[in-house]
Amino acid sequence: MRCDMCGRLIHGKSIVDHIIEIDETNYQDESITLNEDNLQLLCLECHNTKTFQSKINLNLDNRNINLFLIFLFLNFCGLPPF
Ligand SMILES: [Zn+2]
Repeated sequence: MRCDMCGRLIHGKSIVDHIIEIDETNYQDESITLNEDNLQLLCLECHNTKTFQSKINLNLDNRNINLFLIFLFLNFCGLPPF
């Protein structure tokens, strides 16, 4: 078996991964959750890299939204931003 992401032979554990990750917006969408075309075989290293990277991106998105809301609030109050 080869990893669908890095192409290396998998000698240890492999993980069946959803290409489009399951989240609160699509967990009931069977065309994503149960679709075999949305599955890939990954080595543990690639799975962890993909999962960790998506969590970082999600956190950055949330942080940027929070900073924008703080900026709007300060602007609304007539205070200088930061
Ligand atoms: Zn891999």
